[in-house]
Amino acid sequence: MSAFTSKRLFTTLFPVSTRLTLPRYIKRCPFNLQQTLFKSTSVDSKITDIDHKRVQIKLSESLKPLIPDKDLVFGRNFTDHMLMIEWNAKDGWSDPIIQPYGKISLEPSAMVFHYSFECFEGLKAYKDKEGKLRLFRPDMNMKRLWKSAARLTLPVFNEDELLECLKILIRLEERWVPAKRGFSLYIRPTLIGTQASLGIGSNSRAILFIICSPCGPYFRTGFSAVRLLSTFKNVRAWPGGTGDAKIGGNYSPCVKPQIEAAEKGYQQNLWLFGPDDEITEVGTMNCFVLLDNENGETELVTPPLDGTILAGVTRDSILQLARTWKELKVSERKITMSEVVKALKEGRLREMFGSGTACIVTPIKEINYRGQDLKVPLDPNDASSNAGPITRRISDTLMGIQYGEIPHEWSVVLN
Ligand SMILES: *Cc1c(COP(=O)(O)O)cnc(C)c1O
Repeated sequence: MSAFTSKRLFTTLFPVSTRLTLPRYIKRCPFNLQQTLFKSTSVDSKITDIDHKRVQIKLSESLKPLIPDKDLVFGRNFTDHMLMIEWNAKDGWSDPIIQPYGKISLEPSAMVFHYSFECFEGLKAYKDKEGKLRLFRPDMNMKRLWKSAARLTLPVFNEDELLECLKILIRLEERWVPAKRGFSLYIRPTLIGTQASLGIGSNSRAILFIICSPCGPYFRTGFSAVRLLSTFKNVRAWPGGTGDAKIGGNYSPCVKPQIEAAEKGYQQNLWLFGPDDEITEVGTMNCFVLLDNENGETELVTPPLDGTILAGVTRDSILQLARTWKELKVSERKITMSEVVKALKEGRLREMFGSGTACIVTPIKEINYRGQDLKVPLDPNDASSNAGPITRRISDTLMGIQYGEIPHEWSVVLN
């Protein structure tokens, strides 16, 4: 190694502020740090990506008792193990480690605590009738995590390799995937910036971890339709913002409006945007409207991915599925509250629902819009029904695919 590259490497690794104290540290270091640092001829050749062949497994010594299905509360109980992959700017991604689920230790100055360097994903593992484990379009979640990470200048990674690591973890946690239809193992990949610094900038350290939580069906006893409070005072996402990234910073500010809605008797916020009250999302779900449009066509509408909408995997699946039926006009376009109100007044509004991994679909039965409660139709042929026929059909089909009852390439078998 030439003196020049060695000096440049030294400067890259240790910014001015740390250089003065470093030599003494190197002398005290039990192993030959200096040799380790300067072994390679270039910084880049040492940077590693995630590699599932390097997964190390440290099994938990005592396994926890499983939670009875009836006691499962969403996101409260976690499995025996978690996956951890550390990253630093010098070396890249370290070997993935599957280790007992437990606390992680971070400095109080870690950037995640101050500037919200955090993004996450949510997907599920299902057990089919034959006991096989299945994931639903997990490649979409890996790609979305990549995009969210890039938006925050958190480190990106090879998505296929991360998915392979995730599969190793899920196979190991097989006993935690409930066998009952509607039950599943919720999987939460999370990426945080952990550099110890109050200076705002990109992180030189990060941790990617995956934890898993067994969960029950969103609706225990059939569907239950929700009442929405349309919300203008607070805005979930805006043009040029980060509404299209699954980052922690988008969610905490939405809790107060959600509590305010709950106090008035509404389960979710209907997030509106702009001077003409465009519909964007429902709580943390994408939003769909089924109506007979002014041209007499039955149209399924969801707002377009213009930067203010989170690109839901369920949203995409519903759009693709409905297009294959060739019965409805399927549109990604802007839809305003005045269009919905007009359709309702003229008897053309058919159904509305939210979509997301947790529930697949949530029927909407009522919207409070500027002080008025608007009744959204559910099933015209069955007054006791809690969901419209199209909402129900979408739910049944997606669930059938997820549990392997309807063969489909979206369902990925693990064992
Ligand atoms: C996660 C999420 C969704 C739903 O995405 P899915 O991939 O379908 O689970 C919708 N909107 C927001 C704001 C979300 O965070």
